[in-house]
Amino acid sequence: MKAQVTETVNALQDQLISFASELVKIKSPTCHEEEAVKRVADEMRKLNYDQVIIDKVGNVIGVIGNGPEKLLFDSHIDNVAVNDSKAWEKDPYGGLIIDEKLYGRGSSDMKGSAAATVYAGAMIKKLGLDKGKTIYVCCSVMEEDYDGEGLYRAIVDNNLSPDYVVICEPTHLQISLGHLGRAIYKITVEGVSAHGAAPEKGVNAVYGMAKIIERVEALGNRYMQLEGERPSIALTKIESEAVSLNAIPQTCHIYLDRRMTLGENEETVAMEMDALIAGFDATWKVHDVAGTSWAGEKVNLHSFLPAWEIEKDHKLTQGCVTAYRDLFDHEPSMYKWNFSTNGVASAGKLGIPTIGFGAGIEKMAHMTNEYCPVPDIVNACKFYTLLPRYLS
Ligand SMILES: [Zn+2]
Repeated sequence: MKAQVTETVNALQDQLISFASELVKIKSPTCHEEEAVKRVADEMRKLNYDQVIIDKVGNVIGVIGNGPEKLLFDSHIDNVAVNDSKAWEKDPYGGLIIDEKLYGRGSSDMKGSAAATVYAGAMIKKLGLDKGKTIYVCCSVMEEDYDGEGLYRAIVDNNLSPDYVVICEPTHLQISLGHLGRAIYKITVEGVSAHGAAPEKGVNAVYGMAKIIERVEALGNRYMQLEGERPSIALTKIESEAVSLNAIPQTCHIYLDRRMTLGENEETVAMEMDALIAGFDATWKVHDVAGTSWAGEKVNLHSFLPAWEIEKDHKLTQGCVTAYRDLFDHEPSMYKWNFSTNGVASAGKLGIPTIGFGAGIEKMAHMTNEYCPVPDIVNACKFYTLLPRYLS
């Protein structure tokens, strides 16, 4: 099967790479992915997918086969904006290919992988590798600002119930076993407003918050001392409200970026937040982010995104290792991502076995002069095509 996969993908290589380049040329910042989504849907139809769905959130899902075992490939089709275009040596939306590198915003993160999965779906069908399976190729929206929410809605709203999910974020063809969780907390201290000339008549919310901030800093320092994989907590923003610059502030808010290790959940971190504010007239909550997708659907992200990790001896991991070994004649390397992905939804919230494998370079994500190595796209396509064969 390796020879057939290699031959079939190689034969369509130019078409695959020009599709990846075309996707880079289409601007698709978060919540504005319509053109990219429609372009992906057109390509899927052209490649003879069994079904192509654009769901109510605006995700595009291509379906191959109708067997009982379900495998979903996810790539987000949105990307961060370019606000430093003068610093780019190549046009960030030029889709230029120079020396085996596809340049542009979203090339590594993650239109190279998206193109590879779209073509892999077609190859799987062509080679009959969908026997007994349903393959979903999902290009999800809103990942950059609403981690996991696009994929979560794609799976839940459309009743996809996949048995396995492959997150195709950049790994430079290594296997990613998971990543830390991420949450945003907001703490508010209430004070009492008074004239600035008579501070003793009020309660300064910022002074109260200053003591909480000392606790946050101490906790963050304690976490930094831990060995191995560790949680972290950092203050990322502070705001206060006063009726004027001559008044004692009546409220103060801080925002905390909290990274979680496996096993930490909303209840365990809640105890930590309670301890941070104990003794003060303060409240805390998980910060929610609301937005509207390009398709007009309201989305609300509850910003507590759990850590996840798949075991090395899991059937999905072993299937990936075997497919990789068969294709490339050596052992794959395994690691964990430094960033958060849509795996927070599939693995973290829905408990679906999830793994990472993608074209492109993790550290290129959101960077000036982002590029994706062209051979990564071709090889990722081969890997995605062969993977179902090793999941039976
Ligand atoms: Zn990404």
